[in-house]
Amino acid sequence: MAIHILSEQLASQIAAGEVVERPSSVVKELVENALDAGARAINIDVRGGGRERIQVADDGSGIPAAEIELAFRRHATSKLERVEDLNAIRTLGFRGEALAAIAAVSQVTIVSRTAGAAAGVRLALEAGEPTTREPVGAPQGAVIAVENLFYNVPARLKFLKTVNTEKRLIDDFVTRYALAYPHVRFRLTHDNRITFQTTGSGSVADVLLTIYGPETARQLLEVNAESVEQEEAQIAVSGFVGPPSLHWANRSHVTLFVNGRWIKDTSLTYAVIQAYHTLLPANRYPLGILFIHLPPEQVDVNVHPTKAEVRFRQPNAIFGALQRAVRQTLVDHTPIRGVTGWQSSAEESGGAGWSGELDRQAFTRRPESAQGALDLTWTSATDIDLGPEEEPTAAPPPLAPPTTLGGERLPIMRVVGQIGAAYIITEGPDGMYLIDQHAAHERILYEQFMAQRADDGVAAQQLMAGTAVHLTPSQASLLEEHLNALAGLGFAIEPFGPNAFMVRAIPTLVAKLDPSRALMAVVEDLESGETPLARELEQKIVRRVCKTAAVKAGQSLSMAEMEALVQQLEACQNPHTCPHGRPTLIHLSVAQLARQFGRI
Ligand code: ADP
Ligand code: MG
Repeated sequence: MAIHILSEQLASQIAAGEVVERPSSVVKELVENALDAGARAINIDVRGGGRERIQVADDGSGIPAAEIELAFRRHATSKLERVEDLNAIRTLGFRGEALAAIAAVSQVTIVSRTAGAAAGVRLALEAGEPTTREPVGAPQGAVIAVENLFYNVPARLKFLKTVNTEKRLIDDFVTRYALAYPHVRFRLTHDNRITFQTTGSGSVADVLLTIYGPETARQLLEVNAESVEQEEAQIAVSGFVGPPSLHWANRSHVTLFVNGRWIKDTSLTYAVIQAYHTLLPANRYPLGILFIHLPPEQVDVNVHPTKAEVRFRQPNAIFGALQRAVRQTLVDHTPIRGVTGWQSSAEESGGAGWSGELDRQAFTRRPESAQGALDLTWTSATDIDLGPEEEPTAAPPPLAPPTTLGGERLPIMRVVGQIGAAYIITEGPDGMYLIDQHAAHERILYEQFMAQRADDGVAAQQLMAGTAVHLTPSQASLLEEHLNALAGLGFAIEPFGPNAFMVRAIPTLVAKLDPSRALMAVVEDLESGETPLARELEQKIVRRVCKTAAVKAGQSLSMAEMEALVQQLEACQNPHTCPHGRPTLIHLSVAQLARQFGRI
């Protein structure tokens, strides 16, 4: 093919790809425009996960009738005039790309009226080109409807995820902007159902309540660091953070805004996590909604077309200010009870912490369990080892060469005792065994679960009074998607108001578990990573539930409890590994012992 200039239309479609990646990008751009236009109320109506239709209506300034076609041309903006303006951007938009990009890959209708105008204008566009224009009566503001997104870009359509995934991304975005703009009334509907709504009261706490529910919201601590002079920049940090007792399986609950713009910044996210150093269990992450305010000339937002990444003039100063603000908030709320148990991220990473400032209660052990000998479903008191389900990343350090591995059954063993409130020592016909109580119990529960599933189905225990669980909108749609799979595993869960669910029954095998905790664990697991195929999904859920229900390291066990556990492990088909593939036991044969002692 000879070199040629791309047609205007193809060039805009290609350019559109940078700004409009998926339905949530459309929502983002339209909501940002509404905010820039000074809207007090923004209604977002989504159909079919946004692929069918997205409509954003606002009561902002509106677009003057004479400029309405222009607004949809590439590089058309009212927010930037001179190159110097780039040094101090105060609006969310400024590149003049969004409307053109959206219109290039969809069918758009806009109705808008400005304050002074007698009537509004209705303009329809097809692949970026205006088709019809007419005067209409309309309230002040703008209503933009985007239909059949990517209808003319089949390559892009193929890359969209499921309707539910797209819905969730939209939820994530809208809930975050509602936090940054609490004085704006947001309403989000999916397929005519309101899934999220704020009052516009101006209070971030009110918005947090709607997103996280009363249980979580009332625990949050307010961050309010006085504006600090950092070198030459004034940096102020405000927002809310969770206490160390509130933690999640991934970093997605740390949300950062810079001058009202939601940004993604790995380093600053780490600053927040660092502030919790030694306070959170391994692989658990805090909740934080943090607003960083600084002079606009201190931040370059013109880094990427989506404007989600920014660059700071003094990144270290901001890192420090953010970390100090969070840490100060945590310190101010002392005494903070540290993580009970002995395996927090602190010991693992070793680094210099800020221990000493806080009343940290490590090594807290639970008293001897008083429960029945054969009843292995302890209610767990310790909170450790609740990380997301992961496959082991590295082989465990070789303590002794394992002599039995694979599917071999275990011999009959005699329990000798427990060490470190984590391992059971037993004696078998050929030497001694060191059993990891948590891993072993996970294996036992897992096999019992799967056996029930293969037989008559998983036995469920009805809860006398159901337990209500409040989720974030995106977690709620995720859970809804998987209610059937969960029902097949003994969880009877019903929708119970917006973003809330009622747990009516849970699997008998894990009946001792706090139902809301079991459910949260499953939801968190579903949140991390792609949705696996149905069959794998079930196993993933079962593994997660078993892990949550299994006795933890740090729990002292009575002799009878240990004997029951060992007996049940002996009965397992694959007793040597936990369902995630980690070893359940280490075997030291008589011969190995003799060698170690130099007897042979
Ligand atoms: P940008 O936001 O970067 O300026 P856009 O393509 O998103 O570029 O929008 C182009 C222009 O259209 C904006 O600069 C603004 O003047 C106008 N506009 C877009 N949406 C709205 C709205 N909801 N209310 C008022 N004006 C709007
Ligand atoms: Mg814009």
